[in-house]
Amino acid sequence: MIQSVFFDMDGTLFDSMPHHAQAWEEVMKRYQFDFTAKDVYLQEGRTGPDVITECYKRKYGVAPDKDWVWSLYKEKTEAFAHRGETYPIEGVAEVLQELQRQGISAWVVTGSAQDTLFAHLDHCFPGSFVRERMITAYDVEHGKPDPEPYLKAWERSGLRKEECIVVENAPLGVVSAKAAGLFTVAVNTGILERKDFQSVGADLILDNMEQLLVFFRVMAHIGKNVFPYYSTFDKGHNMEHVRKVIDESLVLARQYDADGIMAYTIAAYHDLGLRVNRAEHHLYSGAYIREDDALRQWFTPEQIEIMAQAAEDHRASAKSEPRSIYGKIVAEADRDISPETILCRTIQYGLKNYPELSAEEHFERAYEHMLNKYAEGGYIRLWLHSKRNEEGLRHLREIIADRELLRSICLRYYAEETASR
Ligand code: CA
Repeated sequence: MIQSVFFDMDGTLFDSMPHHAQAWEEVMKRYQFDFTAKDVYLQEGRTGPDVITECYKRKYGVAPDKDWVWSLYKEKTEAFAHRGETYPIEGVAEVLQELQRQGISAWVVTGSAQDTLFAHLDHCFPGSFVRERMITAYDVEHGKPDPEPYLKAWERSGLRKEECIVVENAPLGVVSAKAAGLFTVAVNTGILERKDFQSVGADLILDNMEQLLVFFRVMAHIGKNVFPYYSTFDKGHNMEHVRKVIDESLVLARQYDADGIMAYTIAAYHDLGLRVNRAEHHLYSGAYIREDDALRQWFTPEQIEIMAQAAEDHRASAKSEPRSIYGKIVAEADRDISPETILCRTIQYGLKNYPELSAEEHFERAYEHMLNKYAEGGYIRLWLHSKRNEEGLRHLREIIADRELLRSICLRYYAEETASR
């Protein structure tokens, strides 16, 4: 369960980016640098002096004088101050209230160094922040995109990484948070496009704070009402499994521009039908989605139907193609195509169904199955370009091409499986 959320400040809590962009443009123009508003957003997260140094290097090929950098940065700070007060991002106050209600603590992780920062935060979001839960420019040696700011917050929190989430609005902020190994939500509050966040690996890309509020509510609901069942399922369908399916679903949702919150929800429910039985669990998982009243607060009837069908389709065989991109996402995310798993399962299946076969015969049976299904021209079909699964398949094909290697692996699994019987 999530215990802490680390918020970036400019552009995430405060709508200060337009003012920053105008101030940068004004000052950079004064010195004939080519620096647009879009550059400001793409560079966001870096310290001011770093931005100026990079810009100068790009134009002149040498590093600028440090005093000159600081004097220019002072001009920019003054230009920013002239633009007056900045206000909270629309909808962020409701997100912070929701976190308070859930008992999740909010942190600020910013490259800013204003002395009045805490007073301003407390004024705008009363009760949400405490001084100890702030990482500012004073706390770190290297600013974003270095992981240090987020690592500092995580260390100070004393939590496990999976108990923390980062909320960022800037690509370089996402780079910093991902390098720190944290789950990162990008909320695109500015002028950038989705692809600017896809390329840096944001786990979830949202358009606004209303969607972030929905995500936190959906997560709380699932954490309380869905995940606990997974601890009652077998090893192949436990919490570790569902986490893996969620992670890969989010990777694919990002890659295929699908709704990340829907992909998350489908993955979370995809094996829930095991509560009823194994053979038809995919159908029951779909039914649980359709019958869950809580989901209707956050999803349209059409979205719920798509999610239910996707859960039903998650065991898609080579013959039945999932009905939507969401079905393909969860089917691919659920697939484990690593050679170890495939070969071990094939031997296990053989032992269960053909116990009379010798070790060599088990290998021959497995080899035949590999040629039919997984070798080049075999009947396996991947529904999407999942990097993870394509790599697994490539690795498996290398083994299939080497009959002796395949034989030795199969005989090893045979020995291991029969030894434990
Ligand atoms: Ca920011």
